[in-house]
Amino acid sequence: MINLRHVAKNSWLGRHIPKTIVRYGTLRGCMAAYFGCRKSQVRKQRGFWTWADATGRRHRCSAAKAINEAVKDGCWGWLEDKKKAHVWISTRARPAAVVYLLAHEIGHACPPHKRDSAHEETKACRYGMVAVAAADLARVFLKPKARRR
Ligand SMILES: [Zn+2]
Repeated sequence: MINLRHVAKNSWLGRHIPKTIVRYGTLRGCMAAYFGCRKSQVRKQRGFWTWADATGRRHRCSAAKAINEAVKDGCWGWLEDKKKAHVWISTRARPAAVVYLLAHEIGHACPPHKRDSAHEETKACRYGMVAVAAADLARVFLKPKARRR
């Protein structure tokens, strides 16, 4: 379990945040755990991945394209049973992509849990986008010459 400095364990977020985060050394390892297959089988996954963005718009792409996007982002993850996050985070990942990923998975762990998977993805996507916006604003305000009144 990871102890977070700013999240009290008995707070609403502290009760719902993933208790365990499993970090993988490779995307292939993280995806193999997701698919329940061998690492060598990850690239052979067929079918389409569907998700919904923050506006609720549904998207769909091939598993191969989704894998390529994860490689481009340098990070990827998933949440098991609403409490155990699995992540691959490359050292060359964009910080905003890592913030988005972690907030997205925290979003999945937080209620209300949606029955419709697209609605659940929309909720998690909104968590991710809010976190990225807040991190961006923090960067602006922490600049040495940030404007003050
Ligand atoms: Zn998701």
